[in-house]
Amino acid sequence: MAGDRERYIPFLPMGSSIFSRIIQGEVPGSFIYRDDIVSVFLDIQGVNPGHCLVVPNEEVACLADLNPETGKHLFWVAHRIANAYRAGAIECEGVNLWISDGEVAGQEVPHVHLHVVPRCLGDSLIIRYDARSWNESQRPRLDEIATRIRERL
Ligand code: AMP
Repeated sequence: MAGDRERYIPFLPMGSSIFSRIIQGEVPGSFIYRDDIVSVFLDIQGVNPGHCLVVPNEEVACLADLNPETGKHLFWVAHRIANAYRAGAIECEGVNLWISDGEVAGQEVPHVHLHVVPRCLGDSLIIRYDARSWNESQRPRLDEIATRIRERL
C-alpha cells in the first residue's frame, strides 16, 4: 500500500528497468499504491501534479507480453486513482489514461506502464493529429479494417 516502499518484491530480476528498481526500493519513488501485482508512483516529470504511473511488478517490455489478468488489474487500479483525483485529492478537471507501447508510440521506458494524468484547463499537454476528413463512402474501407482486426481477436 501507499508509502510501503521498503517492501521487497522477490520475483523481480535485479538490474532491470528503472521502474523495477523503483519497485524494489533501489531507486526513490513516491508511491501512491502497491499490491502483489502492480505498483503506482508519481511521474517525476508529470504533466500536472498527481500524474502517476501504474506499473506491473513483473517486468514486461510490451503489451503483447503482458498477462491479460495483470492488464485488467492495471486498469482497475488506474480507475481508482482517477476517482481519487475526481474526489478532490488534487486539482483535476479531467483525466487521460494512456499507454505508449513501442518506441514509435513514444515509449521511453521498456517496462509496461499506464499513465494516469489529471488534466486542468490550459495545461501543457496537447494531443493532436491530422484527422482525415470523413464521409460515409469510406465505410467499406473501415469495415474491411474492422474485419481484419476482429479475425485476430
Ligand atoms: P513513456 O514515455 O510512456 O515510456 O513514459 C515514461 C515516463 O517515465 C516519463 O513520463 C518519465 O517522466 C517517467 N520516469 C522516468 N524515470 C522516472 C523515475 N525515476 N521516476 C518516476 N518517473 C520516471
